[in-house]
Amino acid sequence: MKLPPTLSSAERAAAGAKAIEARRERAFVKSALASGEISLFDLFQDTRYCILRMKLMDALISVPGVGQKRVDLIFERTGISKRRRIGGVGAKQIELLRKEFLLMKTPPSVGKLIVVSGPSGVGKSTITNQLKNQKNFWVSVSATTRAIRAGEKANQDYLFVSDEQFDQMIKNNEFLEWAQFTGAKYGTPVKPVKEALAKGLNVVLEIELNGARQIRKNSPEALLVFIEPPSWAELENRLTNRGTESAQSLEMRLEKAKEELNAASEFDFVLVNTKVEEVVEELVSLALR
Ligand code: 5GP
Repeated sequence: MKLPPTLSSAERAAAGAKAIEARRERAFVKSALASGEISLFDLFQDTRYCILRMKLMDALISVPGVGQKRVDLIFERTGISKRRRIGGVGAKQIELLRKEFLLMKTPPSVGKLIVVSGPSGVGKSTITNQLKNQKNFWVSVSATTRAIRAGEKANQDYLFVSDEQFDQMIKNNEFLEWAQFTGAKYGTPVKPVKEALAKGLNVVLEIELNGARQIRKNSPEALLVFIEPPSWAELENRLTNRGTESAQSLEMRLEKAKEELNAASEFDFVLVNTKVEEVVEELVSLALR
């Protein structure tokens, strides 16, 4: 029987030093990708052994604006194996990757209308606030008749209007949708939404169930996403600890939440809000589909 080769201690030390050097090179390349100093496509020209052996997955995840969800989507759409190393990516696959990145950079001529719905307290505002920082995303500012909360900014969180002003806006056909929710009225002003869509931006509406149903009926091309809490107890905790609601409002919101959770199957996608960053990434991926 042939025995495995044995290395002398000097040979082992040399192999160890080589592995450390390769790791260092790869870390250097990843940070250069992250800072935009080099592009993914520069790597396919690199003939150094340590780069040829680098996993494509590790390189992709280092590209700015690309998270795990988008990496998964890129592998799914291009059909490239997740185990592929840089040295094994063929010319056709490089072209497919180029298309993926062009898709990321060029906004479509008309943006997507994305509805984010789900029970009060599930974390929709935190999610949509993070979407405001994403390129090519625009988050609609609703009008409401409810009282402004401590910490909220007029015209930024909501356009706070009187009941009369809201009714006048309904009469003037100024809303894309509107609904009553636990004693107040909420509506999406249609004009800025249309303008943002025409600019190719993905427009996000953070609205409750009845508004989402109106959008489903009037804009069938819209993408409807429902956000679920990890559990009922977690939803109760979040809503209570937020400290924004009176006991009566809290009770009404929890009652409404049961109705909303029962309607989750009406939506195109249901995302569980365990980690905000993951939900945001998932939403960005869905908009790119
Ligand atoms: P809150 O009072 O907690 O800010 O909002 C109450 C509910 O109204 C939330 O579910 C929120 O998503 C929803 N909402 C906010 N703006 C609009 C809107 O323009 N239209 C509809 N239909 N619901 C909205």
